[in-house]
Amino acid sequence: MKNYIFILVASILMASCTGTKSVTTPPSPPPQPDPVSVGIAKKPRNIILMIGDGMGVTQITAGLYSNNNKLNLERFKVIGFHKPYASNKLITDSAAGATAFACGVKTYNGAIGVDADTNAVKTILEYAEEKELSTGLVATSTIVHATPASFIAHQPQRKMYEAIAKDFLKTEIDLFIGGGKRYFDRREDGDNLIDILKLRGYEMGTYLGDELPEKIDTDKNYAYLTADKDPLTVAAGREYLPKATKLATDFLHTRGKGFFLMVEGSQIDWGGHANDSDYIITEMIDFDKAIGHVLDYAEKDGETLVIVTADHETGGYAINPGSEMGDIKGAFTSDYHTADLVPVFAYGPGAEAFGGIYENTAIFDKMMEAFGWKRD
Ligand code: MG
Ligand code: ZN
Repeated sequence: MKNYIFILVASILMASCTGTKSVTTPPSPPPQPDPVSVGIAKKPRNIILMIGDGMGVTQITAGLYSNNNKLNLERFKVIGFHKPYASNKLITDSAAGATAFACGVKTYNGAIGVDADTNAVKTILEYAEEKELSTGLVATSTIVHATPASFIAHQPQRKMYEAIAKDFLKTEIDLFIGGGKRYFDRREDGDNLIDILKLRGYEMGTYLGDELPEKIDTDKNYAYLTADKDPLTVAAGREYLPKATKLATDFLHTRGKGFFLMVEGSQIDWGGHANDSDYIITEMIDFDKAIGHVLDYAEKDGETLVIVTADHETGGYAINPGSEMGDIKGAFTSDYHTADLVPVFAYGPGAEAFGGIYENTAIFDKMMEAFGWKRD
């Protein structure tokens, strides 16, 4: 064996000495453009995670074919899938689903920011606060509902809305917009969290006062509660999601520290539970408008990683024969969630990591890696 290797090495050396072509100095590779000079940052300064609750491939398709065959989602070039199952069930709920993104742990259905043993796990929003980035949550459900809650609260059960609202006082989140005012100011314990937030320096707005402004003109933290309980549906006149999303990105951008923002199109899921195709489609198109604002911002900014995904599919939704472009005949196999793989769309610095098929918890890992952070 040794002899053989010696002969092999010797013959290679001889070949290189006697060959007509000199191989002593390999040609140097062409100079690579400096990533900064071509406007591509290696690491994102901001991450915007957008969750269409219950938004499977069919929900996207129905929105697309009902919107002149056009969605902002088509602007993404990196697409993957995640496996949405929970620790205790193949079919996840929004609490376990969002906790997987927020904390990077598989947990049980109903868990809000806690692991399978109900231990609190630090969320990406909490990491961002700790690293002095700005943070925000925007939703079209109550702001204490499972998806937004899992990014800021730690509670063993999703229905503990009043306890979840109180957890908003534990993290100095810069901005939140969503429904659920009653969990802040008409509580069983009698506390008025709106008064407390104001004392802590939040500028507070609610649907009972002025409309959501065009621009947030404050250096304080900002919160706006859009409804007493659940916000309206798009069909009933809700319009705030695209506007609130643009407002949030502009506001967090002007803070100048880098930011983490989660935006949820909450009610795509509710259309699925209701087995109501039109409900799904109107909420899907509304969420896609918000995606458009975020992509416009990210394209201009160049330092923002955008991820769009869902926690799970809802309804076992299908587009049945008889459907036409602009006229979807939807059908359903369930009024609950299904276990389908869930699509993931990514844009911006760090986006390449989101191609492929991976666990839902990997969304957390990939965001942490993009920011260059290690889990405690
Ligand atoms: Mg939700
Ligand atoms: Zn649901």
